[in-house]
Amino acid sequence: MQGSLFQRIKRLTGKAVGDFNLIEEGDRIAVGVSGGKDSYTLLHVLDALRRRAPIKYELVAVNVDSGFPGFRKEVVEKHLADHGFEYRVESTNCYEIIEEKRKPGTSYCSFCARLRRGVLYTLADELGCNKIALGHHLDDFIETLLLNQFYVGSLKAMSPKLAADNGRHTVIRPLVYVEEGEIIRFSREQQFPIVCCACPVCGEVDQKRQRMKGLIRELATENRHLKKSMLTALGNVQPRHLLDKNLTDFDLGLP
Ligand code: SF4
Repeated sequence: MQGSLFQRIKRLTGKAVGDFNLIEEGDRIAVGVSGGKDSYTLLHVLDALRRRAPIKYELVAVNVDSGFPGFRKEVVEKHLADHGFEYRVESTNCYEIIEEKRKPGTSYCSFCARLRRGVLYTLADELGCNKIALGHHLDDFIETLLLNQFYVGSLKAMSPKLAADNGRHTVIRPLVYVEEGEIIRFSREQQFPIVCCACPVCGEVDQKRQRMKGLIRELATENRHLKKSMLTALGNVQPRHLLDKNLTDFDLGLP
C-alpha cells in the first residue's frame, strides 16, 4: 500500500505505538476485525509497521461472527485470505443469547459488546495472543470524553493501553492519534469491502454520540486545533484543579 494518506496514518500509528509502548518484542496480537473501516485500517497499518519494525511481533486477524442473520463473514474472510493474513473467523451464537437473555429495556449494544468481548478474549487465549488490538480512533476518544462528562458525570475517556479484566491480556488502541475523517478517506481509497454487522440495531443512529460529533465539528470550524487540544488534555490531567477527593487532599488544615 502506498500514498501520502497511508504514510500519514502509519506515522501517527507508529508514534502512538512509541508514546504508549503499545507493542513489544515477541508480542502476538489479536486484531479485532469487524468488517468496518476502522478495523481494516488498523490491520493493514499494523502489518505495514510490522514489516519494517526493529522488533518482531505477530498479528492474527480475528473476526467474531455474532450470528446475526445476513452477516457476510465470507466477504471479510476473503479479504483476509487474499491479503495473506493469518486469521480466524469465529461463528458464535451471541445473537441467540442476546435475544433470549437480554432484559427488556436494557441496551442491545452493551449486552452484545460484552458477549463479543468475552469471545475475543477466549480466542486470544486459544490463538496464543497476549494483546488485543482494537480500532478506536481519535474521534472515539474525545467523543467518549464528552459523553461521559455530559451524561455520566465522570471525567474519563478510553485508554490506549489497558490491562484486560482477566489479567491475561492487554488491550491496545494504536489508532488513538488518527482522525476518523482520515480513516474514511483511506478506506474509500483502498476500497475495503465494508460489511454491516447485520444486528437489529445496525444503522440506528446513536443520537448522543451524533450530538457530540456535531458539537466538535462546529467548534472545530472556529479552532482547527480543537481535536488535538482535547486529546492533549487527556494526557495533561491536573488533579489539584479537579474535585475528586480520592485524588486531592482537601483537608489543607487552614484556619
Ligand atoms: S452495533 Fe450491533 S454488533 Fe455492534 S455492539 Fe451494537 S448490537 Fe452489537
